[in-house]
Amino acid sequence: MLANLYNTAKKTRLTWIKTLLLSTAVCTSAIGMSASASTITIAPDKGGMPVQDYLPDTVTYDPAIPTPESVLGANLGQWHVRHDQLVNYMYLLAQKSDRITIEETGRTHENRPLLLLTITSPANRDNLEDMRKTHLNVLEKGNTPASDAPLVFYMGYSIHGNEPSGANASLALAYYLAAGQGKEIDTLLNNNIVLLDPSFNPDGLSRFAQWANMHKGKQLVADSNNREHDEGWPSGRTNHYWFDLNRDWLLLAHPESQARIKQFHKWRPHVLTDFHEMGTDSTYFFQPGVRSRKNPLTPDENVTLTEAIANYHAAAFDAKGQLYFTEEAFDDFYAGKGSTYPDLHGSIGILFEQASSRGHLQSSINGDLAFSDTIANQVTTSLSTFKGAIANKAAILDYQAEFVNSTMSMAKDDDTHGFVVSASNDSGRFLAFTNLLKQHDIAFDVITKDTSVNDVKVKANNAIFVPAEQPQYRLVKSIFSTQTSFENNTFYDVSTWNLALAFNLNYTAAEKGDMRGVKRTNIESFDGTLANVDLPDVDEDAYAYAFSWQPYYSPALLQTLLEKGVQVRSSEKSFAAVSMDNSVINFPAGSVVVPTGLSQPNNIATIIRQVSEQVQVPVYSLKSGLTPSGNDLGSRSMSPIKAPSVLIVGGEGTREYDVGEIWHYFDTKLGLSASIVEQQKLMRALRDDSTHYTHIIFPNGRYSFSEKENLELKRWVEAGGVAIGQKSALRYFAENDWLDIDIVGRDAIDNAFDESTLSYGDGSALYAKKLVAGAIYEADVDTTHPLFYGYTKDTLPLFKTSNMIVKNEYSPFTTPARYTKSPLMAGFSDTAMVALVAETPAVIAEKQGRGVVIGFTDNTQFRGYWYGTNKMLANAIYQSHFIR
Ligand SMILES: [Zn+2]
Repeated sequence: MLANLYNTAKKTRLTWIKTLLLSTAVCTSAIGMSASASTITIAPDKGGMPVQDYLPDTVTYDPAIPTPESVLGANLGQWHVRHDQLVNYMYLLAQKSDRITIEETGRTHENRPLLLLTITSPANRDNLEDMRKTHLNVLEKGNTPASDAPLVFYMGYSIHGNEPSGANASLALAYYLAAGQGKEIDTLLNNNIVLLDPSFNPDGLSRFAQWANMHKGKQLVADSNNREHDEGWPSGRTNHYWFDLNRDWLLLAHPESQARIKQFHKWRPHVLTDFHEMGTDSTYFFQPGVRSRKNPLTPDENVTLTEAIANYHAAAFDAKGQLYFTEEAFDDFYAGKGSTYPDLHGSIGILFEQASSRGHLQSSINGDLAFSDTIANQVTTSLSTFKGAIANKAAILDYQAEFVNSTMSMAKDDDTHGFVVSASNDSGRFLAFTNLLKQHDIAFDVITKDTSVNDVKVKANNAIFVPAEQPQYRLVKSIFSTQTSFENNTFYDVSTWNLALAFNLNYTAAEKGDMRGVKRTNIESFDGTLANVDLPDVDEDAYAYAFSWQPYYSPALLQTLLEKGVQVRSSEKSFAAVSMDNSVINFPAGSVVVPTGLSQPNNIATIIRQVSEQVQVPVYSLKSGLTPSGNDLGSRSMSPIKAPSVLIVGGEGTREYDVGEIWHYFDTKLGLSASIVEQQKLMRALRDDSTHYTHIIFPNGRYSFSEKENLELKRWVEAGGVAIGQKSALRYFAENDWLDIDIVGRDAIDNAFDESTLSYGDGSALYAKKLVAGAIYEADVDTTHPLFYGYTKDTLPLFKTSNMIVKNEYSPFTTPARYTKSPLMAGFSDTAMVALVAETPAVIAEKQGRGVVIGFTDNTQFRGYWYGTNKMLANAIYQSHFIR
């Protein structure tokens, strides 16, 4: 109730008393109501406040600058602002205020503009580009900036769309910065630069605003069970593909993150804020968090400065009587989060978490929490961030310079000279990886001569060297880290993000001596093409066309051909064939053959040429069906692939991240249009005679069907369907004997830990040990199995995010992938958990009647960046017909 009490005391605010108004005179005095003498109107609750009530009452405002309420036609907090309204207001402010420059930095998946406002004094605005360059130049050299150098603030809001108080608060903040008059504003804007990113996740914000607004009645409902506070599936937390954008700062799988990271590196802010919401019964959290749970590559001084700024948040909340907490709960470890990524760049990233009202008013253990209360708190800490940082300006300026210098001296002292990463015969995965390095401003060289470094073979122009000694040393160390033991073993998110392992690329850490004599050129001055793919001519007169399944985008090539009605075969075994120019080409198992003698579209050569160019996968024109080694092209082992009709089970019961990751992969990396069907409507879809699904994917989730439905599903599989399950979906598969596996239960995990010496207080640390929160495990894979066609190595790094462990009677015919004897490659897992996982199945595939059931214990598409395991899912779609 504290926030309410504060507001009631300070401002005149509506009471929630529901009054039956009978007279016209009373009616018209209630704001926003119209009435005539002859009608009876029930008084609505209003909610929200005029913008100035969110702001300090010591400030005066320029009347020429429009208030949010004058543009929205409602008070801030009365409704959840729609993103288009937010955009309109920001453009209007930029038009009216000589302090604001506005730009569109990108577009979301749903085509919403991503905005950045640069706000500073008009004098600075005339000189902005020079100020930016000076700032970057000083930073690059590690010089101490002039004492009057500006602080650069990057104020970011609501990366989780259903945590809307941030984005709504940004309207009040923008108004304050545009219209505010007085010494405090002048001190801020004359000497500093504020970058305002009002809405990190416009698609999620829009989804949630729609939800909250459409359930808002004239009488506000505080009951937390009300639909308004209990979102449907998917929630507004995520972006368009249901990804958590606050895990994507490093992975950059989405346009929102790509646009933001570009601005981050363009400006290298001193302070970056990240405004969130948490559970309704909570209060307010601001960093610092637990000191030992920061990333070890973040200097301690970062936490000290965060603390210095935090004193100003505390003082502001003390004055309001607002409850808050610090130094617990949230960590600053994973580099893909908004409060951590900046820390690894000498910025101070600050996480704020406000208790959520979710909708417009919700009861909590602290009393009724109004949406406007949550907005007010975010405005308060936005302003205290300015105040706290300005009060510590000299220390923050020094810190950033010192960060640069300490980074360089750490790099010099490191025995690791850098990392060699090979394209590993797949330019698709390799270029996605190098593209990520570029976006993070990580410098690298191209190795220009064939060689080998340690055990990694390198082809000229097909490998890079990422030097440790560079300004991005800390980020480089983090993306190649194979650390498995940590000071603090409690992780809020993943404990590793080794990108070379994620992309399944051969790599090695190199010492100085290893690189002696290795020819290389910096990527900036390299004039060749990195990992160039030679696309052979597509010959109109070929007997057949064929392509290897190894390139990352081969499945996309296949999918396009299928959609164009091309008849294709995939080869169960490896073979060699003669091309039109008489050279012999080797094709591994899983390669795709397009015989021209089958009924094909007239322009088959043109189709193949276009698609091959588009996805950069070489297609070879073959002269004859007779092969020098392996089966001939007309062999029975060349099996037809039909266009798949794929159904992904989604909706209530399934986890939106996992469903979204599969959708994202199909939609953006394969070009496959799959149907997402609610679990409750799955049977109806199966019974629909107009569609015949070939594959059903059961993503991580809880599944429950009636006995009759189970039987129906089983019949569908036995008739030739392919059922694919991931993570906890395997429980359903095990319960119904679709797979002959046992799930390792909670009891077995509990028994693996000795509790006899523990105290009651050790409970949460023990709980953390029993989790596999995100670590890299190695599996032995059978590359002769159809699920591993296209893989060249017999081991594969998998990303494990749960303690889903299964056991089976081992058979090479049903278990194409098993975790190795000591499987932990990187990240935290307790030794007891590692021992439980060791040598258990990672992938299971069993024949059921004419169909197949496939189980993956881990996510094959983790966060849209774990490219190394994507092909397992593609194989489950396109090569499963070979599973016997
Ligand atoms: Zn959040």
